[in-house]
Amino acid sequence: MDAQRLGYLHDLGITVWERRKQPAATTVQSAQPGLSGDSRAATISGMDWPQLEAAVKACTACGLRAGCTQTVFGVGDRQAEWLVIGEAPGADEDKQGEPFVGRAGQLLNSMLAAIGLKREQVYIANILKCRPPNNRDPKPEEAELCRPFLERQIALIQPKLILAVGRIAAQNLLNTDTPIGKLRGRVHQVNGIPVVVTYHPAYLLRSPGEKRKAWVDLQFAVRTLKEQSA
Ligand code: URA
Repeated sequence: MDAQRLGYLHDLGITVWERRKQPAATTVQSAQPGLSGDSRAATISGMDWPQLEAAVKACTACGLRAGCTQTVFGVGDRQAEWLVIGEAPGADEDKQGEPFVGRAGQLLNSMLAAIGLKREQVYIANILKCRPPNNRDPKPEEAELCRPFLERQIALIQPKLILAVGRIAAQNLLNTDTPIGKLRGRVHQVNGIPVVVTYHPAYLLRSPGEKRKAWVDLQFAVRTLKEQSA
């Protein structure tokens, strides 16, 4: 395994045992405002990428837009096999207009790299396109109003696998109150697309002891995608 990959696994807290070459074993510690409800969702569901981006930019459907700097649409390969879905922009994302650019984003990049993916190879989006004040959890009505945008992104990308990172992303995406511990390790479906759940990188930064479980989830996601494509 090359040094760079070992470094990514190290970021994930994974210890890699390799056959010794040298005397010692190598251990690396490693929309439309005005429209509402069904007609709004129906309008959004027919949009192409430029229309969707413009609609997100113009959206004032919930109160969040008034309190954030800019909308955070999503980033990456629009034909990606992997779609990563997080919760909502934080302070860094709100400033830069791109999801997962802060410390959690760096760990997400390492998580992806550990399974051989560059950030540019996946698409990254959030449940909410606007930053909630003080990074509070999204309210159900905010998530519901933002959902048609995410649904359209999913429909346009047609990913082979969705990786939901964190409880908020997973519960909103899957419309459930089930705790994240019970959502992990199973293949869920959203519009026929397999969904695998793992911990949020921000949580992993606070609880590094859980990184091992995230690594298990990532490997499960890789297997799920392979089985899907077989
Ligand atoms: N956390 C998220 O869930 N999304 C981001 O874009 C950044 C941090």
